[in-house]
Amino acid sequence: MSKKVIVIGSGFAGLSAACHLAAAGFEVTVLEKNETPGGRARQFEADGFVFDMGPSWYWMPDVFEQFFGHFGKKVSDYYELKRLDPSYVVWYGPGDRMDVPADMEALEAMFERLEPGSAVNLRKFLREAAYKYRVGMNEFVYKPGHSIGEFADRRVVSSLFRLQMFTSFSRHVRSLFRHPKLRKLLEFPVLFLGATPEKTPAMYSLMNYADMALGTWYPMGGMYQIVEGMLRLAEELGVRVETGREVVQIYVPNGHATRVLTRQGQEYPADVVVGGADYHHIESQLLERPQRNYSEKYWESRTMAPSCLLYYLGVNKRLDRLEHHNLFFDEDFGLHAREIYEEPQWPQKPLFYLSAPSKTDPSVAPPGCENLFLLIPVAPGLHDTPEVRERYYHLTMDRLEKLTGQSIRDHVVYRRTYAHADFVADYHAFKGNAYGLANTLMQTAFLKPALRSRRVANLYYTGQLTVPGPGVPPALISGEVAAREIVKAHPLTR
Ligand SMILES: Cc1cc2nc3c(=O)[nH]c(=O)nc-3n(C[C@H](O)[C@H](O)[C@H](O)COP(=O)(O)OP(=O)(O)OC[C@H]3O[C@@H](n4cnc5c(N)ncnc54)[C@H](O)[C@@H]3O)c2cc1C
Repeated sequence: MSKKVIVIGSGFAGLSAACHLAAAGFEVTVLEKNETPGGRARQFEADGFVFDMGPSWYWMPDVFEQFFGHFGKKVSDYYELKRLDPSYVVWYGPGDRMDVPADMEALEAMFERLEPGSAVNLRKFLREAAYKYRVGMNEFVYKPGHSIGEFADRRVVSSLFRLQMFTSFSRHVRSLFRHPKLRKLLEFPVLFLGATPEKTPAMYSLMNYADMALGTWYPMGGMYQIVEGMLRLAEELGVRVETGREVVQIYVPNGHATRVLTRQGQEYPADVVVGGADYHHIESQLLERPQRNYSEKYWESRTMAPSCLLYYLGVNKRLDRLEHHNLFFDEDFGLHAREIYEEPQWPQKPLFYLSAPSKTDPSVAPPGCENLFLLIPVAPGLHDTPEVRERYYHLTMDRLEKLTGQSIRDHVVYRRTYAHADFVADYHAFKGNAYGLANTLMQTAFLKPALRSRRVANLYYTGQLTVPGPGVPPALISGEVAAREIVKAHPLTR
């Protein structure tokens, strides 16, 4: 007998859970609040420019391959991937840039030029990182995080020290590299995890392995191609995806979710509900107090990953000296990190990131034009006003023009900004967060908000606020882990 599953939210996690559950025989409907699916990875078109709204870095291609492989498919059945070379560029000052090559030998030579002897240390660092990646991906990220018992296995316990769970990332990097540029380069990927390198376990050098060994890729047509691919797969598996359907209540008589209600007044019966929207929103808005796993005090005490201030820009000329991914590290990393994590405030001299996908993909901008996505990481929960957005636009434009030695601002023919208030309005994001919870040691694995409701027998959570954490690959994994738990707890009788 089939069972009905309602998935709330069509982000990567919700779509992943939906595909896995449909393949296991469940009758799955995804209800999405927005008019277009994909969550933080939506796309929009304006004046001939095609903008990916959120993720732009395609890392860990093996996770995507594994996702589609689970259904007997390949990534190439759905989109075309291209490996970027250079992987990205780091700007340290005007004309002072470091192109990070995709090729390992060229990368070692670059390290050696900056710090003689560092190539050997890079090899050692990446060997350890490869081990962490292997163990992390095989032993940790696919665990549901119900309890510490999952990690009591002798093999896992014995790996904990080698994984450097209890050493800080920055200490690890500093023990091997002296040159400030190399340190910054190696520390940058952990900023994706939402904590400073001092507060992030050294285990996360697995991100450097993903960056330097597995490479930076791009799906032609934009990151939204992943969403399109998943939607096609979902359709092939019989999933119904309904957009413009905001869930406003989960009915829970007697500790069991029986149906959900949308803002438009439709009711959907459910044998199982999967919350793929922001966890805090589901708990605080869709459930009554006794049905919640956590109090408001608990949420207030969490360390959130940063939010961001974004600019989607259409430029009416081709730009020089920019690559697909450009990181601007020409200001003090420590000061900006403090203003995000320790003393939350609008940053004085922020680092920023600029993506120019039109460098790789002519389909995202009109001929002779450039598509730019500018991102400033900022603390969650800040008061976001039009004046602030305008100020940072000019601040980053001044620097961008000076560093790359060309006029850009006068050629901007399309501009849209996006920040905290938009994350709240579009995704019900707690404190306007962009990337969910920070991956600190105290918010890892079973210490994250639980994947399974403790109060509602057939309610599960998935997405960047639960295990394994923020990012597109973790969201895919989160959906799979939630689906696996559901299949175990709610078997279908034939
Ligand atoms: C600007 C930005 C840049 C990023 N860059 C990268 C990157 O380069 N690489 C990377 O790997 N990751 C990146 N990330 C992180 C990554 O995009 C996210 O971790 C991931 O997309 C989260 O997926 P999710 O399914 O958990 O949540 P979401 O994508 O937020 O999906 C949740 C969905 O639930 C819907 N919803 C909310 N409330 C309701 C309701 N009541 N009823 C129905 N639907 C509801 C929302 O509209 C949304 O569609 C970035 C994120 C942002 C914001």
